[in-house]
Amino acid sequence: MSGRLFPLIKSVLMFLASGLVMTWKTNRIRQYMDRIIDYSGALAHGIFRQKLYLKDAGEFTELANNLNNMSAELKDNMERVNKESSRLDVILKSIPDSMLLINTAGVIKLANKTAVHLFGLPQLYGKPFIEVIRNPDFVSLVEKVKNSRMPASTEITLDLPEEKYLFVKLSPLAYTVGDLSGVIAIFSDLTHLKKLEQIRKDFVANASHELKTPVTAIKGFTETLIDGAIEDKENATKFLYTIKNQSDRLNRLVEDLLVLSSIELGEEKLNRTDVDLSILIDKVMETMVVKAAEKNLSLTKSVSGDKTIKADMDKVEQVLLNLIDNAIKFSSSGVIDIGIMQEDGLTCLYVKDSGIGIPEQYIPRLGERFFRVDTSRSRELGGTGLGLAIVKHIVKAHGWNMKIESEAGMGTTVKIFIS
Ligand code: ADP
Repeated sequence: MSGRLFPLIKSVLMFLASGLVMTWKTNRIRQYMDRIIDYSGALAHGIFRQKLYLKDAGEFTELANNLNNMSAELKDNMERVNKESSRLDVILKSIPDSMLLINTAGVIKLANKTAVHLFGLPQLYGKPFIEVIRNPDFVSLVEKVKNSRMPASTEITLDLPEEKYLFVKLSPLAYTVGDLSGVIAIFSDLTHLKKLEQIRKDFVANASHELKTPVTAIKGFTETLIDGAIEDKENATKFLYTIKNQSDRLNRLVEDLLVLSSIELGEEKLNRTDVDLSILIDKVMETMVVKAAEKNLSLTKSVSGDKTIKADMDKVEQVLLNLIDNAIKFSSSGVIDIGIMQEDGLTCLYVKDSGIGIPEQYIPRLGERFFRVDTSRSRELGGTGLGLAIVKHIVKAHGWNMKIESEAGMGTTVKIFIS
């Protein structure tokens, strides 16, 4: 009996032992699998954990090694892509011009900060470019570049909402050879340059016109005299006076133009010294008092005590001369007050008259070269239209501010805030 029992027990024990080994092995495999699933799951979400270490796990060790290698490579690639993308970001940010990448379907796929700022929209990515740049020339140029696959450029004007003058350069973009991916558009803002060009053109036209008037008069009267009018003594004297007046006018114009251009060119550097405004006002009043008296105008000074500022004395004198000259020209009676006061915490030098005043709509244009409210009246009064432009430039060169307060029929006060 016991001889038959023993092999049975042995078989049962062996069965149990192998069952235990199987269970242990299955558990180990499950543990390996759990760790591999966990690790690869994190990897799939871009989370790079410490190396997966499976000791004596046979094929699982190999799988873990492969996963570790994959993870290292993926990490390297991700770092490289991030680096590239931040480098591209820096490059895009440092491009001073506006840049758009438009894909072949006409949708904006990339825009730098300057472009966002230029087009005044918070988001350009994903927008059809024709919604952003409503300009037929630009639209047809995009088409042309797409079809020809050659770069092209043009100049366009956009209302954004203020008018912008842009030079735009388009280039085809191909990520793989022969396969057009889109178009790169670079916009250079030439608005400021265009404005300057227009100002220069206007200035040349105005200056030529202003100079031509007295030159034509001088030429005409001189020819009349040569042609025989010189014999007619009475008229000849009249003509000579006209010629003298026109020459004076020409002289004033040229002098004002020279002053203006030397200030603009920055040739005349400011020679700042301590200037006692009270003494300077006295000096200028002495120069202008006769001219004022001729029109029954009186000059008064409103300064108490010593008012010393750091400034270029000759230039401040020029400012006061121009402002008092205007006050005299555009007043027919009353008092012209020149003084200093405190306003908004700053020292304010002012010239106040009770003359014809300036209609409100013209006030922003005062200081433009050759701008006058009434050109013929200004000419009759001997004005060149450059007086306030000179004042404005001198004030600006000192870093000060000018404010003109005026009302038609009520007089004018020009204030210079010294900072
Ligand atoms: P102008 O030589 O004509 O005086 P300015 O540049 O000095 O040239 O002044 C430009 C214009 O501003 C004048 O033509 C005039 O219309 C107006 N203006 C300047 N100052 C005064 C003032 N004190 N009262 C009225 N108008 C003035």
